Amino acid sequence: MSAEVTIFTRIMAGEIPADIVYEDDDCICINDIQPQAPTHVLIIPRKPIPRLVDASAEDKVLLGSLMLKVGDIARTLGVGDAFRVCINNGEQAGQTVFHLHIHLLAGKAFTEGSLSMQ
Ligand code: AMP
Repeated sequence: MSAEVTIFTRIMAGEIPADIVYEDDDCICINDIQPQAPTHVLIIPRKPIPRLVDASAEDKVLLGSLMLKVGDIARTLGVGDAFRVCINNGEQAGQTVFHLHIHLLAGKAFTEGSLSMQ
């Protein structure tokens, strides 16, 4: 899938406001506009990779660094001991914004059942 301009690209360009939690040269982290948990942020690489499956070997360092940032951001938000990460890949998996992003959710009880796919 080729990259398109998405709402996240526009947020990163400063065209649309967002509640920015953290940003650096590689990524931006914003509060989700429709939070599914008391803490629900999105970690978004600046590089507009549409889906996880569209990443390539050249993105290896970027993807690894995003995972480390998930931990750093969780610690900064005070939820480092209990959080869940999720990446939706593709429309049928619930992806609605086609710019790779990692959901970080915390602050509620996660049960095994909440991973169910129906
Ligand atoms: P996904 O369904 O995995 O593609 O996730 C997209 C997420 O982006 C959803 O959780 C939306 O609530 C969130 N979202 C969409 N627009 C915005 C926005 N303008 N600011 C913050 N989060 C947004």
